[in-house]
Amino acid sequence: MTEIHLTGRAASPGLAIGPVTVLMGIVESRRVSGDPAQETVALKAAVEGAAADLAKLIKAEQGEAADILEFQVAMLGDDALAEGAFDAIATGIPADQAWRSVLNAEIAGYRSAEDEYFRARVADLMDIRDRVLERLNGSENSSAISGGSIVASDEISPSAFLAADWRRGGAIVLAAGSSSSHVAMLARARGTPMVVGVGPLSWDGRPPALALVDGDAGTVIFDPEPETKRQFEQRMKTAHAAHALADADRAKPALTADGRRITLLLNIAAPEELTNLDPAICDGIGLVRTEFLFEASQALPDEETQFAVYRRILDWAQGRPVTIRTLDAGGDKPIAGLTIDGESNPFLGLRGIRLSLLRPEAFRLQLRALARAAVHGPLKVMLPMVTIPSELDRAREFLDAEIAALRAKGIACARPLLGIMVEVPAAALRAEDFDAGFYSIGSNDLTQYTMAAARDNGMVADLNDTGNPAVLALITRAVEAGRARGVEVSLCGDAAADIRLTKALLATGLTSLSVSPVAIGRLKATIATVKT
Ligand code: PEP
Ligand code: MG
Repeated sequence: MTEIHLTGRAASPGLAIGPVTVLMGIVESRRVSGDPAQETVALKAAVEGAAADLAKLIKAEQGEAADILEFQVAMLGDDALAEGAFDAIATGIPADQAWRSVLNAEIAGYRSAEDEYFRARVADLMDIRDRVLERLNGSENSSAISGGSIVASDEISPSAFLAADWRRGGAIVLAAGSSSSHVAMLARARGTPMVVGVGPLSWDGRPPALALVDGDAGTVIFDPEPETKRQFEQRMKTAHAAHALADADRAKPALTADGRRITLLLNIAAPEELTNLDPAICDGIGLVRTEFLFEASQALPDEETQFAVYRRILDWAQGRPVTIRTLDAGGDKPIAGLTIDGESNPFLGLRGIRLSLLRPEAFRLQLRALARAAVHGPLKVMLPMVTIPSELDRAREFLDAEIAALRAKGIACARPLLGIMVEVPAAALRAEDFDAGFYSIGSNDLTQYTMAAARDNGMVADLNDTGNPAVLALITRAVEAGRARGVEVSLCGDAAADIRLTKALLATGLTSLSVSPVAIGRLKATIATVKT
C-alpha cells in the first residue's frame, strides 16, 4: 500500500488524524407512498433503525459521549415524542414532514426553556431528528460519521455537518467544495480542519483506512507510511502545545506589538455555542446570525421565544455589547415560504433587508422581540445587505413603529442602536451617506460582490480573496467613513479569523474584529505580533 498525497485548498485550519469515512453523497429526496398506513410503517422502521444505529455507536464510545448517545436512544424510545407525528400521518401528511415538524416544535420549546439543562439538549434533539430523516430518506449520510473520523466526500451539506459530532476531532476532505461555503464557515466555527478541492476521490473499491489532514496547508495524505504518520503526530503535539498556550491567554485583552488595543468580538450562529464559554475572553458579541431560529422551526419563532433567546445572549455577555443581525434569508440561505423561489441569481436578488422590507411581517415581529430584549443590556441591531440609505431609513421607521406600539401597550422596551452591515460595494463606497449607529463589514459578501466570484463556487475560489487590494480598498473606505462620522467599524466576515490577513486588515485602520469563539486565542496571539 503506498500513501496517497492530495493537495487542495485550506478551508478550516488545524491538523487531524483519523479513520476515513467515505460518504456516499447528499441525501436524496424521498418517494412518498401517499398511504398513511405505509407512511406509519416507514416512520416506525426509521425510528427503530436510528435507535439501532445509536446502539451500535454506543459500543464504540465511553464516558460523556456514551451518555449523550444513551440519552438520544431514550428519547427515541419515548412514545410521546413520536405520537404527534403518527397523528399527523393519519391526516395524510407524509412521514418525513410529520416527523420533522413534530421534532422542530419540540426543539423550539427546548431552545426557549428557562432551564439550562433543557436548552443544552437542543443539539441532541436535532441529531435525533436528522438521524430518523436520513433513515426515511434511505441515506447513510451523517449517521455514518462517527466521532473522530475523517470524512471524504464530493460535497457535504450543512445539515449533515451539523448532525455529526465533531467534539472528538475528525476533519473534512472534499473533492469539490469552497472555502467560503457555509459548511466551511461552520467547520471553522467548530474548529474542525477542512480541505476542499482535492479533485476526484477514487479508490478502485478499496477506500483508505487512515488519513492525515493538514487544514493549514490544504493537504491530505491517505494511508500514510509509519514514518509519515510518526512525523505528523509529532507536528500535532507541537501544534497542540502552541494552541494551549494561546488559549491560556484568551482572557487577556488583544494588544498589537506596538501596544494598540484591538476590540475582539464573537460571531455566533446559535446561542448554544456560548455554553461553558467565559465572556471575559471577548469584548462582546459582534454578530448573531439569527437564521439559526429557522433550524428549529418552519416559521419564524414567536415573539416570546425570540425574546427569551435574545435576552439569554445579553445575560451571558454581562454588560458587554451584543450585536444581533436581523434575518438574512435568501442568497444561499433559502427559507421555505419566505424567500423567493426560482430567482435567476439569488445572490443578486431578494435577500437580507430587501426581503425584510418587502415582506415585513417577520421583520416587525423580530424588531419587537429585539426592542424588548434591549431593556436587558446594550443591544445593537444590525441590518444585512443594505445597499442604499433609504433601506436603513425605512427599517428605522419600522423599528420606531414597533417601539411606539409596545409603549402604547405598556410593554417594557428600549431603543437598540441601529447599524448596518457593509457587504455590498455600493454601501462601502458611500458608507458616510448612511445614518447608521455603527458599521460592520461583511467581508464574505463584500469579497464575492467585489470580485464577482461566488462564495460557494470552488472553481472561482482563487478570485474570492479578501486580501485583494480592491477589497482592502473598500474596507479602508468604510473604516474612514466610520471615523469621519464617529461611529464604530468592525469586521465580522470570515477574513477576521484568517491570521494570514490580520496584518493587512489592521493596516486598513480597523480596530475591531469579530470571530468565532475557537479563533479567539489564535487571533490574539497573531495580533500581538503585528506592528500597526
Ligand atoms: C459576511 O457576508 O461577511 C457575513 C458576515 O454575513 P454572512 O456570511 O452570514 O453572509
Ligand atoms: Mg453576508
